[in-house]
Amino acid sequence: MNSVRVDLSGQAAVITGSTSGIGAALAEGLAKNGAHIVLNGLGDASDIETLRARLAEQYGIKAFYHPANMLKPDEIEDLIAFAAHELGRLDILINNAGIQHVSPVDAFPADKWDAIIGINLTSAFHTIKHAAPVMKAQRYGRIINIASVHALRASPFKAAYVAAKHGVLGLTKTVALEVAENGITANCINPGYVKTPLVENQIADTARVRGISEEDVVRDVLLSAQPTRTFITYDQLIGALLYLVSSDGGNVNGHAITVDGGWTAR
Ligand code: NAD
Repeated sequence: MNSVRVDLSGQAAVITGSTSGIGAALAEGLAKNGAHIVLNGLGDASDIETLRARLAEQYGIKAFYHPANMLKPDEIEDLIAFAAHELGRLDILINNAGIQHVSPVDAFPADKWDAIIGINLTSAFHTIKHAAPVMKAQRYGRIINIASVHALRASPFKAAYVAAKHGVLGLTKTVALEVAENGITANCINPGYVKTPLVENQIADTARVRGISEEDVVRDVLLSAQPTRTFITYDQLIGALLYLVSSDGGNVNGHAITVDGGWTAR
C-alpha cells in the first residue's frame, strides 16, 4: 500500500472510471486518507457494490456509486450534481475513465475513434464544466486528469488515443489558467505502462496487429519504451495524486506529473 499520508478528512471526491484498474486504485488511495468518494464506471453491479461497501467499511468514509456513461453529457451532469448533493461539496475531481483501440489509421473504425475521443477527452470537458461552478463557490478544488505518456509522445496504431490524450493535456492547461484565482488547480498525471485490464487487452490487440507473441509485445513493444523495464505501480500513481491534492501541491497548476520510468527523457 502507498506510504504517503495526507489528511483529506471531510473532502469529497469524484473518480470517473473507478470500477477497475487505475481509477479503483486512486479511489482507494483517497478513501484511505479520509476522503468521501463517488465511484463511477461500467461493470458487474454486484462487484461494484462489493467494492463500494468495502471502501466505506474499511476506511470509515461515505462511498457512493453513480453509473453515468461517459459518452452521455446529461448523465455526466447528473454525476456531478449527485456528488455535490450527497456529499455537500466537491473538492477533488479525477477524470480517469478511458478506453483504447489499436489499429492502423487507414483501418481505424470511425465508431472507435468517436468513442475514444468521447470517453477519454470530451467526458473530462463535461465533468469540469459542471464541477467548476461548485468548486468556485467553495473557493477550493483539485482537478486531476489521468492523461498518459501519450499526452506527450505518440505510438503507431493509437491515433485516437494519442489525439485524445494530447487533447486532455491542452484542456488541463486551459482550465488551469481559467480557475487559478479561485483556489482551484488543474493538473494531469501521465502514467507510462501500468498492468491494468486496459493494458492486458492492448497486449493481445498489439500482438494481433503486429503478428508477434504476447511475450514479445511486453518485452519489445510496451516496456521497450519504458527505460526501467518495469510496469508503473498503482502506489506510485497514488503518491503523485496525493501530492497534487495536498496543500504542498497547491501551487502546481496546469502541469503534468509524468510517471513513466524515464520514457519521455528520450
Ligand atoms: P481499465 O480498463 O482498467 O479501467 C477503465 C475504467 O473506465 C473502468 O472503470 C471502466 O468501467 C471505465 N469506463 C470505460 N468506458 C466508460 C464509459 N463509457 N463510461 C464510464 N466509465 C467507463 O483501464 P486503466 O488502465 O485503469 O485506465 C484508466 C485510465 O488511465 C485511462 O484514462 C487510461 O487511458 C489511463 N492510462 C492507463 C495506462 C495503463 O498503462 N494502464 C497508462 C496511461 C494512462
